Amino acid sequence: MTLKRFEALRWASSFLKEHHRDENIGEILLESRLHLSRTDLLADLKEPLFPQDEEWLKKRVSEHAIKGIPVQYMIGQAPFYGRNFKVTPDVLIPRQETEELVYRCGAWTARFFPDRKNMSVCDIGTGSGVIAITLALEHPDWDVTAVDISPQALAVAKENAVALGAKVRFKQGNLLDPVKNQPFDLLVSNPPYISQQEMNELNDTVKNYEPHLALLGGRDGLDLYRCILRSLPSIFKADRLLLAFEIGASQGKTVSNLIRKEFSDQIEALAVEQDLAGLDRDVMAVLRRNNF
Ligand code: GLN
Repeated sequence: MTLKRFEALRWASSFLKEHHRDENIGEILLESRLHLSRTDLLADLKEPLFPQDEEWLKKRVSEHAIKGIPVQYMIGQAPFYGRNFKVTPDVLIPRQETEELVYRCGAWTARFFPDRKNMSVCDIGTGSGVIAITLALEHPDWDVTAVDISPQALAVAKENAVALGAKVRFKQGNLLDPVKNQPFDLLVSNPPYISQQEMNELNDTVKNYEPHLALLGGRDGLDLYRCILRSLPSIFKADRLLLAFEIGASQGKTVSNLIRKEFSDQIEALAVEQDLAGLDRDVMAVLRRNNF
């Protein structure tokens, strides 16, 4: 007997609940399978499902519930800043909090660089490319470069840029290495910042399926901030530089202290900003260049 959409979704949500997973996952999967918006799916809940769609849904709901495979990898996409991005297991799944980092890049630029038209921007560790691509699309006069060490991640980011019509220059290499000696006004990064200790405590959907290369920031989670800050002078050619980091909720003080230590007499502004959940999430700084 064929199931109607609402019957299949009811089964999915109770199965997911039993396994302590998000109960909405069934809906997300079915929307993707049937190419429907949430509104359209919910408008016709009494429509019967084709047996092959029902089987597809059951298989994926079970795999998510039992093994914790992220739904975004199953459907191959994730939303960010109102757009859909392709994701594969080679890239981190974009997080909602990161949208706030993107927003702040715009807000801080408007405040501290009001006359600068063609901000030259570098996104370090671009992964799926969400930050670089969104900045390029939201600020068409900005000149955006994106770096990642993983060729597989860069391939995904390039596909996303083409699909969304964003002009971004992509470079493969470690942190600032491939852009050394190029001048930038804004350096943005959401680098891997999970510590070894936190790694062990991560939820299975993250720990077992997302790339550790994109998550792990060394023993204390701060390795990549240290490396980026140390090599920052190599791209700091203009009078001022805007720095925008996403951080872990417990890293606000330590990351801002790293900036103070490295650029003590060059800080024009420095702030730890919170996300919508009220957790420390971004460190923003405006630095002045030393001319000696
Ligand atoms: N920049 C990408 C993002 O924000 C990837 C981040 C990462 O892999 N650490 O989603």
